[in-house]
Amino acid sequence: MRSMKETKENKTKLILEAVVLCITLLAGITLIMVAGHVDLETWQRVTLTVIALVVIFGGIAVAAVLEMTAGGFECPKCGKYFVPTKTAYIMGMHTVTRRHLRCPHCGVKSWCRRRLAQKEEQE
Ligand SMILES: [Zn+2]
Repeated sequence: MRSMKETKENKTKLILEAVVLCITLLAGITLIMVAGHVDLETWQRVTLTVIALVVIFGGIAVAAVLEMTAGGFECPKCGKYFVPTKTAYIMGMHTVTRRHLRCPHCGVKSWCRRRLAQKEEQE
C-alpha cells in the first residue's frame, strides 16, 4: 500500500514538474519577445530581460527540486533501488529517464533507470 501511495505521489511530482517547466518557458519567452519587439527604453528592456532570466532559472530550480524528490533509481547491475544524494544527483550526467550514478549497494557506476517507488518484492 505504501509503495502505491509513493508511486502516485511521485507521478504527481513529475507531472507538476512538466507543468512548471511549461509555464516557465512560456513566461520567459513572452518576456524576452516583449523586451525585443516592443518599443521600450533601454532600462525597461534590460529590466524585462533580467526578470525573464530570473523566472526561467527559478522555474528550472523548482522543477529540479520536484524531480529530485520524486523517487529513486534502480541499479542495472544488482537490480537494487536507491535514492541518490543531492550532490550525486546534480553532478551526474543524465538523459530523460536515466542518470549516471554510483550504486550504494554494489558500488558500480552505471546508467540507472528512474523508479517511482521501491518494488514491493524487494526486501
Ligand atoms: Zn548496484
